Amino acid sequence: MHVIYGGTFDPIHNGHLRLAIELKERLGVDEISLVPCHMPPHREDPGATSGQRLRLLAMAVEGEPGLVVDDRELQREGASYTADTLRQLRAQLGDREPLVMVVGTDAFAGFDRWREWEQIPQLAHVVVVRRPGPLPDPRGAPAKLLRERRVGGAEALHEAPYGYFLELDPPLLDISATGIRERIRSGRSPRYLMPDPVWREICRLGLYGACPDGNF
Ligand code: ATP
Repeated sequence: MHVIYGGTFDPIHNGHLRLAIELKERLGVDEISLVPCHMPPHREDPGATSGQRLRLLAMAVEGEPGLVVDDRELQREGASYTADTLRQLRAQLGDREPLVMVVGTDAFAGFDRWREWEQIPQLAHVVVVRRPGPLPDPRGAPAKLLRERRVGGAEALHEAPYGYFLELDPPLLDISATGIRERIRSGRSPRYLMPDPVWREICRLGLYGACPDGNF
């Protein structure tokens, strides 16, 4: 079973990394692929380039064999659409291998605005991770899809290549990339919210308004 966890990762932080480990254990897989988007279609431009975000991700997963970085969205021109990524992966994995994409409830609330969203359940399973904040409107298309295709446990995902929805409610760290960027911009320390090598590299590159000669 191949599991992808996508995001802007602007920058990667311990909330993302902790969730990836929880997913690996709860879904019963050896590996989770973190997929940074090149250009996010539904939000403003990130504070770091895709190449910089990728570099920070690679540093964050170094020495953690269960987490890998998949840079396929950076290889494509233009906006990063999940349906394109899943189609590419499906072509590589063949028809039978289970493919899973992970999404937070915040992003899932707007699922029916994603390009070709109706194709997605024909390419992959969807794991919806409960995040703080409002839940998708129960009358909306995403919530309806979830009700119709929901399975009770991760075992079911191993038994079919695509088409199921699983809700997970793992413990989450209260960390956001927005909060980290604000901290850095205002000269406060983001230490212990992300791996030290990532913060060191942010300082070195002077990203998000960090002082290049070391407020580490
Ligand atoms: P921003 O604050 O810039 O919106 P973010 O920290 O939410 O960023 P994203 O790159 O947008 O990070 O998130 C990628 C994925 O990780 C999304 O599915 C999001 O729901 C999830 N995520 C973000 N923060 C956490 C966290 N603290 N714990 C678990 N999942 C998270």
